[in-house]
Order: sequence, then C-alpha cells, then structure tokens
Amino acid sequence: MQYFSTRDPQKKTISASEAIVKGLAPDGGLYVPTAFPSLTDFIGKPYNELALEVLKRYLTDFSEAELATCIEQAYKKYNPVKLNGHYLELFHGATLAFKDVALQLFPYLLTTALAKNNVDKTAVILAATSGDTGSAVLSGIADVPKTKAIVFYPENGVSSVQRLQMTTKTGDNVHVFGIKGNFDDAQTGVKEIFSDDTFKNQFSDDYFFTSANSINLGRLLPQVVYYFYCYSQLVEQGKVARDEKVNFVVPTGNFGNILAGYYAKQMGLPIHKLICATNKNDVLDEFFKTGVYNHEGRDFHLTLSPSMDILISSNLERLTYEDRDLSLFDSGSATDDETMATIKAVYETDGYLLDPHTAVAKYVYDQYRAKTGDETFTVIVSTAAPHKFPEAVACAVGENQLTDVPEQIADLDQLPVLHPGVVDDLKAAVAGVLG
Ligand SMILES: *Cc1c(COP(=O)(O)O)cnc(C)c1O
Repeated sequence: MQYFSTRDPQKKTISASEAIVKGLAPDGGLYVPTAFPSLTDFIGKPYNELALEVLKRYLTDFSEAELATCIEQAYKKYNPVKLNGHYLELFHGATLAFKDVALQLFPYLLTTALAKNNVDKTAVILAATSGDTGSAVLSGIADVPKTKAIVFYPENGVSSVQRLQMTTKTGDNVHVFGIKGNFDDAQTGVKEIFSDDTFKNQFSDDYFFTSANSINLGRLLPQVVYYFYCYSQLVEQGKVARDEKVNFVVPTGNFGNILAGYYAKQMGLPIHKLICATNKNDVLDEFFKTGVYNHEGRDFHLTLSPSMDILISSNLERLTYEDRDLSLFDSGSATDDETMATIKAVYETDGYLLDPHTAVAKYVYDQYRAKTGDETFTVIVSTAAPHKFPEAVACAVGENQLTDVPEQIADLDQLPVLHPGVVDDLKAAVAGVLG
C-alpha cells in the first residue's frame, strides 16, 4: 500500500512508514491510501489479532512480526476498548479517554518507522495541550525506548484531574511544563519551535522532532480496529446478524474518530449511517447539512465537552479531497443544557453515567431517531470516562454518584508531583531537556 498527499495533483506516492515519519505532507496535505483494502473475515477474533489484520493491510512495509510486537506492547497494560450494551466504551486506557487507543500504539509504530527509514535518532514528541492529548501522549510515550515527550499546558487552563495526570507522570523520558498563558500561547510556542530550523539543528544529530498530531496516519489507523471489533462483538452476542448494517454515532472534534469509521466502511464493514455529533462548535453539523464547510468568522465556544471545542477539523480533508458521496453521513449538535439534561435522563432511566462528550452523541442520536424513524441497531461511541469530568457530571446528577473510580486515577492526589515547572520561554525549556 502506498500513500499520497491530499493536495498533490500528481498523486506522487510514498511508503506507509515514510508517511508516519513525515506526519503532515510537505505541501500541507494529509497522506491518504491509494486504495482501500478489504477485510471481511474477522468475526470472533480477539482485539490484538484484529488490530494486526487491519494494520497489515495498510502498513505493508512493516513485517507482521513487527506489527504484532507493536500491538502487544501497546495494549499489554490497558486495552482501552470495551463494548457495553449500545455503548462502545473507548475510555479504559491509561488516561480514560479515547485518544489512548491510538496514542498507546503510535510511539511503537513511529520508532519502528524511523528505524525502517534509517533514522537512528530519538523521536522527540512536542505537544501543546488543553488537557486530554497531553496526558495521553505522556502515557503512550513513557518508557518507550528511543522516544521523549515534552508537553506544554496552560497553567490555569486545565482541570485538576488533567493537571495531576500530567504533573505526576513517571518515566525518564517524559517532561511536562505549565506555561504562563492560554492554550493558543502554548500552541503558538510549539509551532515556533517546529518552524525554527536553526533551533532544531542544534539537536539534530541525536533528535528527530515530531508532533504525534491526530492527522498522522499512525494515529488514524489504530482507530479503524475498534469499529471491526465492535461489530464482531455484536454478532457474537447475537445483537445483529452477520452482514446486517449498523449505525455509529461519534462525538466529533478533529474528525479523526469518525473518519476511522469511514475507513472501516470502505473496507467492507456493514455500516448504514455514520452520525457526526458536535457541540455548539457545530461547523461539521453545518457541513453535513449544507455541503459547505465554513469555519471562518465563527465564534469559538467553550463548552462542557472541551475536547470537541474545535473550529478547524483537520482530518476532514481526508474525506473531501475528492468528491465524495456524503449520503453515508448524518449529523446533529447539542448545547450544554441539552448535554446536561441527557446525562441526567440516561442516569435516571438506565443508571448509566455518561461523560459530557458521549452525552452529546446520545442527544444527537435521539434527535436523529425521532427525525428519521431509523431503527437500525445503533452504537454510541463513548470517548471519555465520566470520572474525567467530575464537575459536569456531578452538576447533572448531584454529588457522589461517581463511584468505582478507575485505578488509573484512584490515587492521583496522593502521588508526588514530579513536574512542577511553569515556564514562559518554551525554547529554553526544550533546550534544557535536550541538553
Ligand atoms: C479528542 C476527543 C474527541 C474528538 O475526537 P476527534 O477524533 O478529534 O473527532 C471526542 N471526545 C473526547 C473525550 C476526546 O478526547
């Protein structure tokens, strides 16, 4: 399998490992496969075997043994994925959010890809975070040979759980700094480092800088796996017949998760509708309703589902770079009030607690069902544990409903803070780490 940039009219191709090393194409486009492979015989396979089946069809310059080792290392402590009724819970990983699925595997894919391309350097992953990505990057990277993570978060812009998940993180190769400023300042600082060749060249004998951004092919492909896994489980549980179509509702920000569903559909998974759920930052809902993607001049809203507070969904370009039939998709949006009311209603009827991101999806599904009468079996893709957003959940259902605190965060406030630093010069911080 070969890959080309969405912005290259010549469609010049490169290998999978090169696409992972590069991340973004030099022309600013995203790497896409020349064709979609098919996967039809997958029912009943355990998660890691299924991951191998999916990945070996895309990462054809990796050996099966290399891929199997990457997958095994990634998921040996936590497998983030569990189907619970209609909810595909992707939040059982190291940091209780769906990004763990990809970020636990990505460092292994990246270091293998670097070795294949004869880059004998340590990969330095620089990230600016407003919360979820930072802790998932740190957990994915911690103690992986030939990697380092340096994460910057806005000192006053993350929740207390998120801050502790980062500042207590162990591992010789992880580094975390608060910055004086907001998320945009952190992001601008990191971008400045990426574009400053003089700065980077001081370290280029030993280090290779990369971003682990959600547009990297190595983050997209691990997410295709759970759509197949979920379907396989549904068939095994007798909830759907073999080849019967199902719907997935996906709480969406950067369009990475739902795009993986689209890839699964192209590979032959029987999907009737992919339903894109957004919060008040509803530029994607508008896109699917009108066919026009217009993020300019829009107000940015801070909501209860912060990981979906995005105006520019970078991965959308992987869908729209050529004319696509968009009839596979439906969409909707939820306000914060609708989100809170949904958490409350589901808790009262089913005793099941939703985090605010998943609640957006549930609300959008209920609207879709009422609008269309579509009775297709529908899976709600659940992207975070409610324990990660205790304030919003407590506000919806009253205090003290969050029992069964997952072990990943159970003793967070007793752990020593290993990374207390707050900086205002990001380059100096990076230089300090790299020596
Ligand atoms: C990142 C994230 C999302 C959005 O996923 P995309 O792939 O960016 O669309 C949704 N929910 C949670 C909890 C997240 O962390």
